[in-house]
Amino acid sequence: MEKNKIIEVKDLVKKYGDFTAVKGISFEVYEGEIFGLLGPNGAGKSTTLEIIETLREKTSGTVIVNGFDLDKEPDEIKKVIGVQLQSSGYYPLLSLTELVHLFGGLYNKKVKPFEYLDMVNLRDKAKAKFKELSGGQKQRFSIATTLINKPKIVFLDEPTTGLDPQARRNLWELILKIRSQGATIVITTHYMDEAEYLCERVGIIDSGKIIAIATPDKLIDDLVATGFERKKQVKNANLEDVFINLTGKELREG
Ligand code: ADP
Repeated sequence: MEKNKIIEVKDLVKKYGDFTAVKGISFEVYEGEIFGLLGPNGAGKSTTLEIIETLREKTSGTVIVNGFDLDKEPDEIKKVIGVQLQSSGYYPLLSLTELVHLFGGLYNKKVKPFEYLDMVNLRDKAKAKFKELSGGQKQRFSIATTLINKPKIVFLDEPTTGLDPQARRNLWELILKIRSQGATIVITTHYMDEAEYLCERVGIIDSGKIIAIATPDKLIDDLVATGFERKKQVKNANLEDVFINLTGKELREG
């Protein structure tokens, strides 16, 4: 069966003055998948994401989201996407309930805050202010706010950076849950274990160019086929396994 392309990016270029940050990249995202955009700092991931999210002007190229051309119908694109703000984008002194209502207002939707807080396991923090949350809770809450307009596509820009191993794993399960409810997810990350665990397909971007795009499995098989051999693992566990084993999987958020 032909997979439905929900995002199509073609020959996308972004210049900041004389500097070309995105150098003619093309890729597609299929409906229902988790697609990862991977690359070192400064590679052009956020720029690319923000252009698709209608938050940044492109220099040239075409972007089609859910059948709508970014140049012609950006408002139609805004209606079907959920975008995660950086945590500085929240009013620190409002409670989570107030913030959910505020976002509902932005999207012109009457919302039931518990519906979203339950989804990310934050009902007991409904009255807490945003600034009082732990790092993992802030990330979970910001993901909840992406769901308020019932988006078809959710964009997550480094959602687990700076979190402890328990909070990262907890967030992975949340991301899988959102996908299982029918959303397509586009995620950027520096963590290869995260990409391997979550993503059906990944695009690797370096210095503004896509240098590989495939399933994680295919990329690994291709590397092995070149004769590459990993240094033999001498132990059946690593330090992260030790840490999780000693401190447990449950969240500790004080
Ligand atoms: P990534 O998300 O992969 O870390 P970015 O898309 O943030 O990369 O940045 C790509 C490149 O563009 C970097 O070299 C960055 O310094 C540059 N850049 C990003 N935003 C701007 C801007 N507003 N003005 C000038 N240069 C920028």
